Amino acid sequence: MDKRSIKSLNYTELLAEVEKLGEKKFRADQLYDWIHCKQARSFAEMSNLSNKFRETLSERYSLTVLRCERVQESAIDGTRKYLFALEDGNLVESVFMRYKHGNSVCISSQVGCRMGCRFCASTLDGLERGLTPAEMLDQIYAITRDTGERVSNVVVMGTGEPLDNYDNVVRFLHLLTDEHGLHISQRNVTVSTCGLAERIRQLAKEHFQITLALSLHAVTDEKRRKLMPIAEKYSIAELMDACGEYFRETGRRVTFEYSLVGGVNDTEEDAAGLAKLAGPLGAHINLIPVNPIRERDYVQTSRERVLAFQNKLEKTGINATIRRELGRDIDGACGQLRRRVIRGGQSAGKED
Ligand code: SAH
Repeated sequence: MDKRSIKSLNYTELLAEVEKLGEKKFRADQLYDWIHCKQARSFAEMSNLSNKFRETLSERYSLTVLRCERVQESAIDGTRKYLFALEDGNLVESVFMRYKHGNSVCISSQVGCRMGCRFCASTLDGLERGLTPAEMLDQIYAITRDTGERVSNVVVMGTGEPLDNYDNVVRFLHLLTDEHGLHISQRNVTVSTCGLAERIRQLAKEHFQITLALSLHAVTDEKRRKLMPIAEKYSIAELMDACGEYFRETGRRVTFEYSLVGGVNDTEEDAAGLAKLAGPLGAHINLIPVNPIRERDYVQTSRERVLAFQNKLEKTGINATIRRELGRDIDGACGQLRRRVIRGGQSAGKED
C-alpha cells in the first residue's frame, strides 16, 4: 500500500501527473475514463495506452481493488449485502438496494467506528482506520460490476462516521460526482452523521448539493446522551445551529434520522419535541425501527406506535417517512455481517 492510489487523484491532479510523465493531455482523459468509467481492475487492461506508459503507471501507482469475501441476498426484497476485503485484509460492508427511483448503494466510510452509539454494531470493536477515497469508490465499482446494474444513488450510511474521516470523504464526494467519472448527481448522494457540529459547518462551506442526514434519535440532550456518547460533546441546540447553517449555505433541507427504540424515545412527547426541532429547518424525518443487536437489549417500537408517531409528526406539518426495512434476513444493520464473520459464525442480529 506504499504506492499512491491513482483512483484517489482528481482529474486536475491526474492531468498534472500525466503531463509530468511526458504524455499528452488527452491521455489523462483516457486514463480517467479507464479508472472511473470503465472501472478497470488493472493497468494492463488499459489497451489504448502504450505499454511503456502502463508500466510507468504501475511502478508509481496502485490501482486498488476489493476482494469480495461474501455476498448475501435477501430472499424477501433482493437487497444484496457485500463483505469486501481491502488490500490490507480489513473487512468492510456495503449494501445494494433496489428502489422504484433507482438502485442505491450504501457504503462504509471507515473500518469500524469510534462514536460508540449504543444500539450500533459497527462501533463495538472501535475504529481501525478511515477509508481512502479509492476504497469508498471501490465499493460502488465492485457492486456495479457484480450486479451489472447502474447505481444512481449513494448513501454514506454504512460503517463509520464520515465526518470523522472528513478529508477523504470530501475527496470521495468530488470524485463520485465528477463529470468525467461516474457522474452521480450530487442530489442523489446522502451523507449521514452522528452530529459533529464543527464538521457540519465545514461541510456546509463546501457547497455540495448533497443531502445531509443527522442521526438525531432523541430530542433532549439527556436522552440523547444515553444513546450516543457524541451528545456529551455537542448539544442538540448546537447541532440545530449547524444544520441551519448547512441549509443556508447550500439551500438543501437536512434529514433527521430517528431510530425508534421501544420504551426509550417513542412517546407522544418525543414526537412533539421532534416536530419542534424539525419545523424551523423544514427538515424531513426518516423514522427507522431500531434493528436490535445481540449485544444490547434494545427492542423495536411496535408497528402501531411507529405509525402513531409518524401521524403525530405529519399532523404538525412535518414530512416523515418510515424507512423500509430492507435486508432484515441478511444482517442488514450497520456492522452486523462484518462482526459475524470476524467472530466466526455467530450473527450479531438478535433474530436468529
Ligand atoms: N455514523 C453515521 C453513519 C453510519 S450509521 C451516523 O451516525 O449517522 C447510519 C444510521 O443507522 C445512523 O442513523 C445510525 O444511528 C443508524 N443505526 C445504526 N445501528 C442501528 C440499528 N441497530 N438500528 C437502527 N438504526 C441504526
